[in-house]
Amino acid sequence: MIELALKDVSKVYKQEKVTALADVSLEINQGEFFCLVGPSGCGKSTILRIIAGLEKPSSGTVQSPAEVSMVFQSGALLPWMNVEENVSFVCKAKGLSSFKAEEQTTRYLRMVDLEGFRYHYPRELSGGQRQRVGIARALAVEPKVLLLDEPFSALDPLTTDELHTYLLKIWKETGKTILMVSHLLEEAVLLSDRIGIMKKSEIEQIVSVELKRPRKDDSKEFLNTLEIVKNILEH
Ligand code: ADP
Repeated sequence: MIELALKDVSKVYKQEKVTALADVSLEINQGEFFCLVGPSGCGKSTILRIIAGLEKPSSGTVQSPAEVSMVFQSGALLPWMNVEENVSFVCKAKGLSSFKAEEQTTRYLRMVDLEGFRYHYPRELSGGQRQRVGIARALAVEPKVLLLDEPFSALDPLTTDELHTYLLKIWKETGKTILMVSHLLEEAVLLSDRIGIMKKSEIEQIVSVELKRPRKDDSKEFLNTLEIVKNILEH
């Protein structure tokens, strides 16, 4: 079943005379892990923002469920709230009772192994822990679709590996549809079912990644797929 669909979506910033997206069409299946890659400025984040309802397309149609959550680059936590409050306030904003908000907060903090950190403040956490709170917060409102905008770009490689493991575990456990933007091709091949390769304002090609999980980034098949994606991007 199709969960997300964009049909001939364009986005033009008139004042700046920038075409961020030109007639983009894309269908993402329920439970799919889809990654968008491409050079900076090609329109990846614009697609996420349109799906999240943060921007309106200039033309075209978007079909997406109401329940969509976004994970931002550095976790985007509120510094004056502790971990628990950072997660529970979005539940309360969605209209959940305090009891239910608490329950959801516990459930998702447990999923990212941060239950023991509920009274810590963001400044007391590592970058990876902050991003895990960001993921728990996005999940706590029980979205159908999880949008991730370069969620690990501020993290060191070891922490990024750890977060990849968390994300795959969460994806498997919850069956969410995931749409992620990345500038790292290795990350896209490691995680996704399909990769949408973008060039200036358009999706140039979609590559299916037919590798079994867990994937090993030094296997021949992995490197072959990586090469295919690289070639499309460079030509
Ligand atoms: P990416 O995520 O691939 O780096 P973006 O989707 O952020 O690219 O941006 C696509 C293009 O739209 C870029 O040229 C960018 O400068 C432009 N753009 C994005 N947001 C705005 C905005 N609010 N106003 C004007 N131009 C914008």
